[in-house]
Amino acid sequence: MVSRFSHSALSSFRSCPRKFKFQYIEKPTVPKRVTPDTYLGQVVHRVLSNLYNLGADGIVLPLEEVIAQYDKDWDKLNPLAITTISEHYTVDDYVRLGREMLTKHYERYQPFNQNTLLGTELRLTFQLPETPFKLLAIIDRLTKLEDGTVQICDYKTGKRPSLPSAPAFRYQMGIYQLAVQSSWPDYQSIELVQHFLRQDEIIRHRMSPDDLDLLGEDLRTQIYEIYQAEKLDDFPPRETGLCNYCEYIELCPAKRHRLLLESQDVDEISDLPPEKRAWDLSSQYIEVSQKYGELKALRESLKVDIVELARESRFTSMEGQGGKVNISLARKEKLVTKSEDQKAFADLSFLARELGLDDYFVLDGRALMKEIIQKQRLNEEGLEKLRKFVARKEESRVTVKLDKNDDTAHGDE
Ligand code: SF4
Repeated sequence: MVSRFSHSALSSFRSCPRKFKFQYIEKPTVPKRVTPDTYLGQVVHRVLSNLYNLGADGIVLPLEEVIAQYDKDWDKLNPLAITTISEHYTVDDYVRLGREMLTKHYERYQPFNQNTLLGTELRLTFQLPETPFKLLAIIDRLTKLEDGTVQICDYKTGKRPSLPSAPAFRYQMGIYQLAVQSSWPDYQSIELVQHFLRQDEIIRHRMSPDDLDLLGEDLRTQIYEIYQAEKLDDFPPRETGLCNYCEYIELCPAKRHRLLLESQDVDEISDLPPEKRAWDLSSQYIEVSQKYGELKALRESLKVDIVELARESRFTSMEGQGGKVNISLARKEKLVTKSEDQKAFADLSFLARELGLDDYFVLDGRALMKEIIQKQRLNEEGLEKLRKFVARKEESRVTVKLDKNDDTAHGDE
């Protein structure tokens, strides 16, 4: 049972519940995969944390030393653990990008003591209000401005700056604000700041108490969903383009079969291990499904022609090879449905409530028709109001009677 949730854990559950289960519940031992962009983010964060901690004490490292420290961190990375993320970028490109980000940031913000530093890489655990749930926030940098405003700063090394309206910003920075407010209730004025280092851009935002209440509601719902998933052991895989970078891909139920097949030639598998049987059964199922879809479409089109001909010829039964086709055409009074006319349906719902017919209406529009219109359960005035929503419709039904007395019914309306 997960007892503490971070922004990353919740985001992992939102993007792929199965990955969340691997990452936070099962925790299997898997080869460590590092993408160069993830590693770039980690190194840049470490370097900036060091710079600001030293800057707060009046020490400013020369830029060359900062870059040397950064390069040294890259040297520690095992090249075999790197998973390439793009065919166009080499690891050297990521190293260069990081140097450029740090240089721009250094030139703009040295001597790194503009505001009072309250901490870097702060780990704050707090309880989500009115719940037993604990949340963890890891804040890149917390500072206090002269006017008392507390800034929660987060560094981003990715390609695209996001917007405060984006869900990712709201969840991540909102959780940070809840964490800071819970740890220091006296901090009243809080600003959320994201530094996009690659673009040398900053976005600033303030979340209102209403925004935070709504966020709290969302977080509660998400955590309940996770508990529910744990209770039912229901963590479905959700495949996306990012699966290739998922470190659990070889264990993933959605990917494992393909990976097993890729590692061997399916035609050469003589005994019947599950992967071969899965291939055979899936192949047959796909073939039958394709044929079934084509036949279904053909049957629908024949049915339209048969109904048309039945109207013209007034045949209610047509002989054919192997049996006969029976057609019944009936005119019925029906209430408007939501799919036919949303506005009329809303008016009808309102009228049903006004006439005290909610129960029939909610249960079944047909029950309402039967009870109220056909059995005349309403006075004339009520009936008159309701009749506006009744239309006459033709219902057609086409059934097949086989010569061997084998009935197959299909088709209606
Ligand atoms: S490979 Fe894709 S679907 Fe499977 S666990 Fe990872 S992210 Fe989810």
